[in-house]
Amino acid sequence: MHIQNKMLINGEWVDALDGATIEVLNPHDGSLITEVAEAKVADVDRAVAAAKAAYPAWGAMQASERGRLLLKLADRIEECADELAALESLDTGHPIRDTRNLDVQRTAYCFRYFGGMADKLEGTVVPVEPGFLNYTQREPIGVVGQIVPWNFPLMFTSWKMAPALAAGNAIVIKPAELTPLTTLRIAELMMEVGFPPGVVNVVVGYGSTAGARLADHEDVGKIAFTGSTQTGQSIVRASAGNLKKVQLELGGKGANIIFEDADIQKAVGGSAWAIFHNQGQACIAGSRIIIHESIADEFLDKFVALAKSIRLGPPDRTDTEMGPLTSRMHQERVLAYCDIARDEGAEILLGGKVPSDPELANGCYVEPTIVRAKATDRVAQEEVFGPFVTVLTFKDDGEALAIANGTEYGLGSGLWTKDISRAHRFARDMNAGMVWINCYKRVNPGSPFGGVGKSGYGREMGFEVMREYTQVKSVWVNVDAQIPPFYTR
Ligand code: NAD
Repeated sequence: MHIQNKMLINGEWVDALDGATIEVLNPHDGSLITEVAEAKVADVDRAVAAAKAAYPAWGAMQASERGRLLLKLADRIEECADELAALESLDTGHPIRDTRNLDVQRTAYCFRYFGGMADKLEGTVVPVEPGFLNYTQREPIGVVGQIVPWNFPLMFTSWKMAPALAAGNAIVIKPAELTPLTTLRIAELMMEVGFPPGVVNVVVGYGSTAGARLADHEDVGKIAFTGSTQTGQSIVRASAGNLKKVQLELGGKGANIIFEDADIQKAVGGSAWAIFHNQGQACIAGSRIIIHESIADEFLDKFVALAKSIRLGPPDRTDTEMGPLTSRMHQERVLAYCDIARDEGAEILLGGKVPSDPELANGCYVEPTIVRAKATDRVAQEEVFGPFVTVLTFKDDGEALAIANGTEYGLGSGLWTKDISRAHRFARDMNAGMVWINCYKRVNPGSPFGGVGKSGYGREMGFEVMREYTQVKSVWVNVDAQIPPFYTR
């Protein structure tokens, strides 16, 4: 397997100016995979300067040509699917069946979607006073800084890069320090298919140094950030210097409401996918099951049985359904929430500990965990970001809605019912950027993705994201208007 461990600046693979490196560890057994060049402030400055120099030609390039490069990249990603999937599994701990069948496919799909979008960014003609023509055009921002978390590094690289490049921006992307390998590999493929030097720059570094520098850099016109709410807040503060645009995809505490008329079998499977896929390390995880009290016992019997049967194992094994969490620190954080649940008097119906299998003893594994709690408990309010689901019960629709809307977050949410009117009423009333009815955690490059409240602002995907990566210019033309002379002398 080929592993790139330098940073990409102006089309060249380089070491850090001070030679610093970051260790990248295998979450399955804690072993060292590689050391990658660690970008500090001076390295980020070099990358931003390269992007600034590359931007004018890239922004002025015919849009269909930018699109063509993105389409070529999508093809190349599919050709390298096995290798990319293996690399992502190694770096993150995601089971290979998911990285192969979901992450890589979705990554290629995203680059292809926005490759097709590049030359479809039309302006408008605005009906104004007779004699004038007023039209708008969407222009790129210039240099865009992109900061990505560790939970879906490959897929999020495409979510960030594809629309920004299609719109004509040059980018400096900072993958998470824990999981930089597939972003670096994608950048290699980009160089191979012919992206001009400087249009894409990749700097791996810590948030407090490299990330913070991108956020406060005067030559960066926009930051697109995915990560925790706390970091999002510090990015907003850092952006004030040059008033850069900021787009924030932050944390979540997804409500997953199951009504008494739901198809229980489908709700059980869908709810397990909602929380246990990717070991629950998803901002849109359905981490709060909110269930009608009349069906809670029946649902929980089936749900606990299903969760018990999930196969935990090494990520490279094709029958593994749940791998390790992505880092030791995160494993400890999730286990600490299991202790908090016990302290709060919540009932742990399953899990709450590391698996006993000796083969997994050195890895960052946590068993699927199901906890029955109260809506006000910390475990029902705070994002755990692991295979940890809190179950809450309700008596009527009003209570279900109050519980669903009762956190500071508002990202993904879902509901299971056969009552069409109730489904749409809840879709309208739920405080969330995304609502899934009789399904959960569906994403598609055409469908806007993002949240409200402390889950952030701005949208990824769809046409919405093209607005985020462009700014509007309004142009006035005097065709044959007689302008009254305000100054007659
Ligand atoms: P994090 O905020 O610690 O780190 C995310 C990224 O920000 C990393 O690249 C990190 O190096 C960088 N960073 C850290 N401090 C920084 C600073 N001061 N300035 C600039 N950059 C900085 O988050 P995490 O723990 O890596 O990721 C998990 C979080 O991400 C969860 O809260 C999760 O909900 C959220 N998330 C949100 C979405 C979404 O689309 N809304 C998607 C995935 C993950």
